[in-house]
Amino acid sequence: MAEREISCSFCGRKKSEVNILIAGITGHICDHCIDQANNIVREEVTQKTNSEVEQSLTLQKPIDIKRFLDEFVIGQDEAKKVLSVAVYNHYKRLLQPPSKDHDDIEIEKSNIVLVGETGTGKTLLAKTIAKMLNVPFCIADATILTEAGYVGEDVESVLSRLLQAADFDVAAAERGIVFIDEIDKIARKSDNPSITRDVSGEGVQQALLKLLEGSTVNVPPQGGRKHPEQKLISVNTKNILFVCGGAFDGIQRHIEKRLNTTAIGYGISKDTVEETENILRYIAPLDLKSFGLIPELIGRFPVLTHLNPLDAESLRRILTEPKNALIKQYVRLFEMDNVKLSFDKQVLDFIVEKAVEYKLGARGLRSICEAIMTDAMFEIPSQEESSDFKITLSYAQEKFGKSKISKLKVA
Ligand code: ADP
Repeated sequence: MAEREISCSFCGRKKSEVNILIAGITGHICDHCIDQANNIVREEVTQKTNSEVEQSLTLQKPIDIKRFLDEFVIGQDEAKKVLSVAVYNHYKRLLQPPSKDHDDIEIEKSNIVLVGETGTGKTLLAKTIAKMLNVPFCIADATILTEAGYVGEDVESVLSRLLQAADFDVAAAERGIVFIDEIDKIARKSDNPSITRDVSGEGVQQALLKLLEGSTVNVPPQGGRKHPEQKLISVNTKNILFVCGGAFDGIQRHIEKRLNTTAIGYGISKDTVEETENILRYIAPLDLKSFGLIPELIGRFPVLTHLNPLDAESLRRILTEPKNALIKQYVRLFEMDNVKLSFDKQVLDFIVEKAVEYKLGARGLRSICEAIMTDAMFEIPSQEESSDFKITLSYAQEKFGKSKISKLKVA
């Protein structure tokens, strides 16, 4: 009797009808069924991760978002308000079930541009939002990006960082926040649209458009330049929120010029702008264009807001008020060594005074504190008993006087 031809235990196809038939303990499976089973598994897993991500995104109201930001970021009320609304709308759009009645109302993404001097809290704002939403967050520097084919990183590397921040969970990364710093540095250098190729400026802006457009981008998982041997991961950028920050040095000139030439009855005359006022308040998309960003890129950032320079009072508050304020951090560090640390009020004023004097801004607060505290942090942990340690003005002045920062030229 002829031997019966073995067949797939799932679909019944005979061995001669398939490419591969794998034997199990009691049965067989063919390559068609393996393919199909694989697809089912993949679909299940993606659906699960999608709904997990959605569940983890609890939509907070703008007022709650701002309240959360207030805990970490001092001042910058206008930026916080604008940001809270933009983020609320963005995630509302994202959590909205797909419309069944096709009423054609598509809520557009609210990518954001933050304009303000360096060290005023742009990165901190974006980072705090990501923390609140519990979504992957990454920071990329626009200055290291170049057009594909030139030395530097391809724009896709921005998404590599986001993927890394999301532990390569693509579904989570696709709802993340990307902060692109120093966007002003890729402005076109002259108003003349590139006669010669502008490697670091307009070309990068064009390349960035691709990320912002909401398309599927092939991302090298390890970042850097694309290597032919590197397997690429597809990431859809449709729901990724892009926040850009930049100091836009000199943009004030463009704003002033525009304010002066705006038609009567529309806009603000220069006389109504007080001398001491932060002229950035009046920033409009047109000013970004005059500064050298291409209109297509500006169009992808419907939300534009500004940050104010930090005055002495804000710096003083930054030292002590935020949830993770510097002074609170030092107190906690010493507490771990059973030392009760305290600061004289004059010390805090001294730190602020120096930060203002050396024009170091909020970032400088940290270096000044370190200069004052390093010796104590070196010696105290070796103390056997618990004790109190008070930083007095004369102690702070002495330690600061010996530090490298004090040797800096006053700007
Ligand atoms: P940039 O505007 O250059 O992105 P950052 O957000 O990186 O500035 O700020 C640098 C550091 O200064 C932050 O890590 C934070 O400690 C502090 N800082 C700046 N602005 C504020 C602010 N408004 N409130 C609290 N801390 C601030």
